[in-house]
Amino acid sequence: MDRFLYTSNKSQSLCNLWMAYPACKSFALASLGYIWLYKIADELEGINPFLINTDTEATSSKADAIAFSMSFDFDFMGVFEILEKNNIPFLQTNRDNSSPIIFAGGPVITTNPEPYKHIFDFMVIGDGETVFIKVLEILKQSFSKDKTLKELSKIEGVYVPKFNSNVKKISESFEQVIYTPIISDESYFKDTFIIEVSRGCMNRCAFCIASYLNLPFRYNSYSKIIDALELGLRYTNKIALLGAQISAHPDFDKIMKYIEAKIDSGIEIELGISSLRTDSISPELIQTLVKGGQRSSTIAIEAASDRLRNFINKNLKEEQILNAIKIARENNLKSLKIYSMIGIPTETQDDIEEFLNLAKKIKQDNKGFEITFSFSTFVPKPQTPLQWAKREDTKTLEKKQKYLEKELAKLGISSKFSSPKWDYWQTLLSRGDENLANFLIEVYKLGGKNGAYKTAFKKYQNLINSKSINGFDLNDILPWDFIENNPRKELLIKEYNRLQKYSSST
Ligand code: SF4
Repeated sequence: MDRFLYTSNKSQSLCNLWMAYPACKSFALASLGYIWLYKIADELEGINPFLINTDTEATSSKADAIAFSMSFDFDFMGVFEILEKNNIPFLQTNRDNSSPIIFAGGPVITTNPEPYKHIFDFMVIGDGETVFIKVLEILKQSFSKDKTLKELSKIEGVYVPKFNSNVKKISESFEQVIYTPIISDESYFKDTFIIEVSRGCMNRCAFCIASYLNLPFRYNSYSKIIDALELGLRYTNKIALLGAQISAHPDFDKIMKYIEAKIDSGIEIELGISSLRTDSISPELIQTLVKGGQRSSTIAIEAASDRLRNFINKNLKEEQILNAIKIARENNLKSLKIYSMIGIPTETQDDIEEFLNLAKKIKQDNKGFEITFSFSTFVPKPQTPLQWAKREDTKTLEKKQKYLEKELAKLGISSKFSSPKWDYWQTLLSRGDENLANFLIEVYKLGGKNGAYKTAFKKYQNLINSKSINGFDLNDILPWDFIENNPRKELLIKEYNRLQKYSSST
């Protein structure tokens, strides 16, 4: 059952808008940004939005426009699935004026829209809340497709490949709290009310788009967050606080105390927090989480050696990691996942050995406490200081994984790993250019498994820029350079150069 926390107010429909999520319904309903934009569209006079996802059968309701939200690099598969189901050509040039206008936004598009340049009619770069309303106001007009796109190209933050050669990334002033407007038992986060406490992270780890795409760090006021919390509690007892760095909120302790007081007064609250900053873990924080039913949590250390953490600007010392784990154990969390990466540029065997040294110390100090190491491989992302970096080859990464898995098992510590093969393709998608469109279509047609990527890669190899995988030079023009961003490219170069002083231990 879906419970709507707002009222849709319509007297006429000027635009049938499919709000399309390129994955299944439960993921769609769990995507806060997507559902919030649906609410905006539903509250706007003249717009008739439909929730569409890959579980939706072909619908007979005609779309005037289709908005896709893309959060993950592999989401293009879901985009094509929805278009195919509704007999809509994938490439812009194969669609005529009777086709709906098709557009997209979300982190994937904001990071690098170029692989999708020939697929979408336009894209929204940056935060969507305000731009989306301006877009919908244009879509409501009965302009021709060309005139609509021309008008859209004048909006700051909108990139219409046909008309714009540059675009400014939008950063919202963040005056309104965003929360789950439709609480659903079909959501991946079943019956959960999510509150966005803050956006971005001021720590600027050199690989991190959660930080670099969302500068400056912004947060909502204490009173607005509490009002949202009270609204959510009228519908559900499952509350989740969202933000890459929520503990940096100036009133974070006060918010946690407010929730704790509610629990102490007998109100049942199941509390979830999206991520814990290792250096912000305190006994009070863990105690509140445990009271809110949390049994396990994750900390991100990103790399095992202090040297490598300095290189990626993750200013976290080993003592802080050990201290955080001790606090988690002493305050009754049952288990902890430690997230890290391998394959970070400049990584050596010594850095890999540091994982094992750290694991030994953790094990020694925390007998009986369940620890899991979870590793992904480094994927260089556009618009970060490591956007130029080379990706380590798959075989070397697989060897490192096997070694870590074996050695951690000897210590009685379980480990999980992402697939280096998939992370390799993710690198290509992240840093691809406009020539990637046919490759993407081929991958989709061939079923989207690893073999499909290999076959499509062979077919389109001559169109694919090998630098997407092997790394760019600092003076290369990058596919996403046309985005006016904060910080500007010169500052990313400066930061990249600054980090080189940590590139070796000598
Ligand atoms: S602390 Fe986490 S969210 Fe913040 S910049 Fe580093 S990796 Fe990103």
